[in-house]
Amino acid sequence: MAKRTKKVGPAGKYGPRYGVKIRKRLKEVMIAKAKKYTCPNCNHQSVKRVGTGIWKCRRCDLVFAGGAYRPFVSASFRKEAVRSPQAVEEEPTEEEENV
Ligand SMILES: [Zn+2]
Repeated sequence: MAKRTKKVGPAGKYGPRYGVKIRKRLKEVMIAKAKKYTCPNCNHQSVKRVGTGIWKCRRCDLVFAGGAYRPFVSASFRKEAVRSPQAVEEEPTEEEENV
């Protein structure tokens, strides 16, 4: 059988609604948040998302804060922070990342 949601993957549940572009972006987020990640403590691929920004390793029970939809802040975001040190100084309690 032909693959039904080739372009948008899990965002296919929205059918033709909301536009292709936004569904493609949603697909990336949906995949990123459902994926298992490598644990920074025990190096096993068993970190799963508990809630927004909360990540837990199922092997060593480590719970840590990260991005809303992925546990680690992307490199491009860090570069941005380095480029604008003023913004960082102004908001020292800024959240890590909200993809
Ligand atoms: Zn672990």
